[in-house]
Amino acid sequence: MKNRMFGLRDVALRCLATWRYIGSGVGIALLFGGATGVLSRIGHMHPLWIEQWYSRGFFQILRIAWDNSIGRLPFPAFYLFWGVVLAYWVWRVWRSPAQRGWLHRVRYWILQLLAFSAVIFGLFYWMWGFNYSRLPIARQLGLQPVPLDTAALWDELRLETKVLDSLRVQLTGSDTTALTASAYRPAHMEDTVRVAVTRWLLRHHFPANGRVRARLLTPQGVLLAFGASGLYWPFGAEGNVDAGLHPLQYAPVMAHEMAHGYGFGDEGICNFIAYASGYQHPNPYIAYATRLTYWRTVAANCRKADRNRYNTTFRPFIPAGIRQDVRAIETQMDQFPELLPSVRYQVYDTYLKSQGINAGMLNYSEVIMLVRAMRQQ
Ligand SMILES: [Zn+2]
Repeated sequence: MKNRMFGLRDVALRCLATWRYIGSGVGIALLFGGATGVLSRIGHMHPLWIEQWYSRGFFQILRIAWDNSIGRLPFPAFYLFWGVVLAYWVWRVWRSPAQRGWLHRVRYWILQLLAFSAVIFGLFYWMWGFNYSRLPIARQLGLQPVPLDTAALWDELRLETKVLDSLRVQLTGSDTTALTASAYRPAHMEDTVRVAVTRWLLRHHFPANGRVRARLLTPQGVLLAFGASGLYWPFGAEGNVDAGLHPLQYAPVMAHEMAHGYGFGDEGICNFIAYASGYQHPNPYIAYATRLTYWRTVAANCRKADRNRYNTTFRPFIPAGIRQDVRAIETQMDQFPELLPSVRYQVYDTYLKSQGINAGMLNYSEVIMLVRAMRQQ
């Protein structure tokens, strides 16, 4: 009997200790992360709720708040985020209570790390990540994307080459040297791209509140080293573009990151929004740069489908100016080799799949189906 009493008392004390722990910062952080994880799973099953309450609701309020605060900073919020993280950990270590023995110390720091990760995980969803579960844009636009057969893919490449060539002639006449000079570019590239993206969104009845930034990030190659030309950083609520890109890549990459910033998670969709908002731009440089990026995706897919056919019947006939531009882009990219490309591919592929994008990395190329469907519509 005495033993049983002791057992009950022990359980009660343990419950009390756990309850106190839940009430502590670590407990709250773990609850926040866990509850947000459960909500995101539920969100995947109810895209309409996410569309109404998050993407067109709460996220729009956030957008306005961020863009009128940290969006006005004279430097990328990406740096601010890492500065805050560093300052937090310095403070944490400095103010950490003394622990008796190494076991307590290890347990303490593991819990601190877990709590921090849970907060970052939860914030990621509240600040942007729930957008992965919104209603598919193709459905909202009434598009019916279907995979292209080989004939349609080659058709697409021929068509795009023709338009691209005529745009280039419009820009430079008969000059076929690479388009690197800044004279061709609009003076306010970021604003020009944002106007195009928001116009497209509003025309298709998507909200476009705030003023999403797409800032150049230095040092050059800081993102390219990880295989990314750009990045939407939810914790800074802004798009970042690697300053090491060739200037011809700026406009489409900025538009892609802005599309993320206006509430879209899907990579193929962001490529599509970048294309749709720029392919008929009144500024021929923007139109050319937009279509050149798309052209490279189509060409890569044709090459993958039939390398021999590409090399013998297509490659020798690529107009000289386009070839020079592609070469200039590739030369520029070669300056910033990627670290561990296969690891990066696997990690990002797994990440996209965990967000409900079953195609994983192939998601980027879905832009071809969407463009085709738009044209047919
Ligand atoms: Zn992206």
